[in-house]
Amino acid sequence: MCGIVGYVGKKQAAGILLDGLRKLEYRGYDSAGIAVRNGAENAQVVKTSGKLQALIEKTENGRNICGTCGIGHTRWATHGVPSVANAHPHVSGNCAGTGNGPVESSVVGVHNGIIENYAELKAKLMSKGYSFYSETDTEVLVKLVDYYYNKYRIGPIDAINRTMVRARGSYALALMFTDYPNQIYAARKDSPLIIGKGDGESFLASDVPAILKHTRRVYYIQNHQSARIEADSITFFDLNGDEISLPEATIEWDSQSAERGGYEHFMLKEIHEQGMAVRNTFASMVRNQAIHLEECGLTQNVLNGISHIDVVACGSAWHVGVTSQYVIESLTDIPVRVELASEFRYRNIPMNKGTFVIVISQSGETADTLAALRKAKESGVPVLAVVNVVGSSIAREADYVLYTMAGPEISVATTKAYSAQLMAMDLFAIQLSYSRGFITEEKYKYYIEEASRLPQKIEQILKNKEKLQWFSSRISSQTSMFFIGRGLDYSICLEGSLKMKEISYIHSEAYAAGELKHGTISLIEDGTVVVGVMTESSVLEKTFSNMIECKARGARLIALTSEEHPVSDDGEVDFQISVPASDEIFLPSLAVIPLQLLSYYTSVNRGLDVDKPRNLAKSVTVE
Ligand code: GLU
Repeated sequence: MCGIVGYVGKKQAAGILLDGLRKLEYRGYDSAGIAVRNGAENAQVVKTSGKLQALIEKTENGRNICGTCGIGHTRWATHGVPSVANAHPHVSGNCAGTGNGPVESSVVGVHNGIIENYAELKAKLMSKGYSFYSETDTEVLVKLVDYYYNKYRIGPIDAINRTMVRARGSYALALMFTDYPNQIYAARKDSPLIIGKGDGESFLASDVPAILKHTRRVYYIQNHQSARIEADSITFFDLNGDEISLPEATIEWDSQSAERGGYEHFMLKEIHEQGMAVRNTFASMVRNQAIHLEECGLTQNVLNGISHIDVVACGSAWHVGVTSQYVIESLTDIPVRVELASEFRYRNIPMNKGTFVIVISQSGETADTLAALRKAKESGVPVLAVVNVVGSSIAREADYVLYTMAGPEISVATTKAYSAQLMAMDLFAIQLSYSRGFITEEKYKYYIEEASRLPQKIEQILKNKEKLQWFSSRISSQTSMFFIGRGLDYSICLEGSLKMKEISYIHSEAYAAGELKHGTISLIEDGTVVVGVMTESSVLEKTFSNMIECKARGARLIALTSEEHPVSDDGEVDFQISVPASDEIFLPSLAVIPLQLLSYYTSVNRGLDVDKPRNLAKSVTVE
């Protein structure tokens, strides 16, 4: 949620900040702003509501703001409506910053996260004479820093540390102090923040794509740490204000992967990158026809100790968990429970010796998933993280990490990271099964072979996308859709339905096919589209019967099957899509592709902003 950027160096900051914000716009896009300082002058703050483009226009793409040090923000509002006054940067003075010259304030800041005790802090600050121009928790945070800074006449780091002790919640924070030109101060707790080191220039950002074209040398600051960022040096501090040293890391992602590369939308590009994402994930885990989990610490001993598994995640990653539950339970006798992280973190869930927790998150920063991980660790159970972003909070805190090799995913609706997660979880399940003696070596090799063929089959499906494009034009005026299936197919319905509703705004429900008659069938009326996912041969006929029941009530039917088991073409179904044959445990990896394309084209046909659907943001770092 929300993107923050910072730059200090010799170049003009505004253009660099706007360019960085453009790369982060997927994280928040209801308003945006930048603050830039020209040497020792006060910061000039410019803010706009709506998409980043408004800010770009207002600043003439940064040309009308002079200065080599600055911070920027693209907001996903949590406290206060999207408006210019609530947009960041926020200042310690009494002016919202509307772009009419430099702002008189000792502190200017941007923030990603939520300050939970902001009301109490605001009351305290008001009693000390502060007044507030916005409804945000961020303004409170900035004024609290200012309060400590001025009251105790302490330096920025001490003021930030006192603030960190008082503020509850999550934050990635970037601040500029009027008394300290050409310096940016940063701190974090539970919200992502990376600091980049260039040649005579330094950067900060919520996520890698914002700085990838400038530098690959980065530092990951930890919770309750802070940093002073200058053009030629970056200094880190702990909560006591003592200097600490942090290791430099190198980003391996290729900078082209964070660009649209000729595609109309990031989502379409990322759909097409799925073969590569799945292939790279496979290659990172498999060598010489064997799956190597021991490299991430999952030795035979660890696998032997697992008596049941809790998979914990949010959104599409939770759907990966649902698929994995079917796969692991069909390959082993190990029971698997799949939990929504936002529920898991507040429920009393018995975790015993033998419990093994797997958390799945693309960004590695999902707030609920991170909290669930911590809860599991407090209970003393081992945690495996399946994440895409190296060095993310979840990756750092988990006991074991399987990295998905999807590269940067920009579109809010996940596609390639989801597919890479499915591959990582499938390989985990196969290795667990083999190492615990549930499958023979021959079967083990067969599964690996089948998995290795998935990328090419995904690419084959993508070659036939025109048919889906055509069909989507016939459903784009729908108001309601249903996705039904059983078993593994049900898990794909969950993802297909979410994809459809999140980017096309068509109301959609995923139902276990057998459940429909227990209530929801009453919603089927003339013309309602029902997508039946029927790749599992053992339950195909059952689901098909449920579809025919819908047809009898006026539904239009789409059948999604495997080429090996299509449904008979006797006019019952309005549209049939078949994916290449594969062992059935892998069919979710193939079946999801047409559903992604269907959603994508439906969203395009409806003239919507595919990559940035309303009210949503990628990487949900707030509760
Ligand atoms: N809570 C802050 C606000 O509502 C920051 C939200 C964000 O992370 O974008 O302005």
